[in-house]
Amino acid sequence: MSTEENVNVIIVSAALQGHINPTLRFARRLISRGVHVTIISTELARDRMLKHSVSKNTDSYFHNQEMHFEFFSDGLSLDFDREKDMKTSINSLFTIGSKNLSTLITNLTKHQNYSCIIADPFIYSAIYIAADLGIPSALLWMQPCALYSISYRYFYNIDSFPNLEDPNEKLQLPGLPLLEVRHLPSYLLPATPLHIRQVMIETTKAWDKVKWVFVISFYELEKETIESMNSLAPIYPIGPLVSEFLLGEKEQDAISMNMWNVDVSCLEWLDTRPSSSVIYISFGSIIVLSQKQVDNIANALKNSNKSFLWVIKPPEKGSEDDAAKLPQGFLEETKGKGMVVTWSYQEKVLMHPAVACFLTHCGWNSMLETVTAGVPVIAYPKWLDQPTNTKIIVEKFKNGVVMNYEEDGVASVEEIERCIEEVMEGPGAEEMRNNALELKDAARKALQEGGSSDKNINQFVNDLKNVST
Ligand code: UDP
Repeated sequence: MSTEENVNVIIVSAALQGHINPTLRFARRLISRGVHVTIISTELARDRMLKHSVSKNTDSYFHNQEMHFEFFSDGLSLDFDREKDMKTSINSLFTIGSKNLSTLITNLTKHQNYSCIIADPFIYSAIYIAADLGIPSALLWMQPCALYSISYRYFYNIDSFPNLEDPNEKLQLPGLPLLEVRHLPSYLLPATPLHIRQVMIETTKAWDKVKWVFVISFYELEKETIESMNSLAPIYPIGPLVSEFLLGEKEQDAISMNMWNVDVSCLEWLDTRPSSSVIYISFGSIIVLSQKQVDNIANALKNSNKSFLWVIKPPEKGSEDDAAKLPQGFLEETKGKGMVVTWSYQEKVLMHPAVACFLTHCGWNSMLETVTAGVPVIAYPKWLDQPTNTKIIVEKFKNGVVMNYEEDGVASVEEIERCIEEVMEGPGAEEMRNNALELKDAARKALQEGGSSDKNINQFVNDLKNVST
């Protein structure tokens, strides 16, 4: 058996807020067990981390005793608007980016032995690079186990799927509720642009090469799905990968990556609000709301007369003209009652006693964060994994309400008001709060010593030590 000093791993992460966050948290859990971690991402991540995170000292920031960072170019300039031209950015990442990543990892292996390369599903080339170098690899799946199960069964032809072009079709898969086509991840649906579906098609082709599949979920949340995968391709939940702060553990002087400047003044503002009175609203780091969606949310907030904290992420450079604007006079009319910021410290917001509920797009990190904070939700999903997340969490555990909306994604003012009323003071509100608190308890236990996720991480580290001998 080798000593712990010999265990080195590489984690490759896409430069997306929802991927970098769990990557950093997984890295810290491995480091606390004596593993040395090198995190690799694209130069865009490096640029954003330096611009918007606490430390400006590059050397101590990227090469400290805890973690070591390396970056590669995806072949595009830093100010290229990747959100606006996703097709070009995906193509470039998979061609030029993959070559650069291969060169980087090959050079690193000349100076150091690595026991495992852990790949982001969006940078699946890391799995092939690991195979070429004879290094075991793992997948760090950034969505719930349900999405892994659905994608696996679809791409590996395990179960027969109905015609996905027909919105009236339904699908029953092991461990999952009956799903309508609209509840399936949008990257399976024919209406989604091919370059987005292609990412999933390519990543799944690499899955049979990985030794471990980790998911940032936890066993108690998705028991049946996890068990249904055991005979096909076992998955190991290691989540919720939220910050130590949210788990009530000792907070680390953590390296963080924020893609936008955090407005901490909203935490001070929350201090002035009564307990359980504020609706927190955020649609994550990717969704851009339409003008109609913004108008309807704003009008519903005004009519409901509730306090709110609303994150409206700034548009990328060059996209300012397309960004939806708040209705004229909205900020003045809601002054004192509400606050709009461009980016928050979401986990601290969710843990704040003034927050009553979270109007969310149901991105998986946001879902896990609200579950771990015990905050009920108003689910307003748009695409990708979000509609499925709503089905398997909110509808199953009843920790909130699900918004109804038309095909264009626009919920009416009345519908938004109905959801606010139901979660905050309707007859079912107390039960939703209690259900949310039960989930909070389960989430914390999973990562405590002897908890389901803690055991999976320990087992992985033991496996790594055996690989290193
Ligand atoms: N987030 C944040 N501040 C905000 C809004 C979001 O720190 O104002 C973080 C949030 O805590 C989560 C991530 O951004 O960790 C968003 O990830 P998620 O998977 O929920 O959604 P995505 O951005 O991938 O759609």
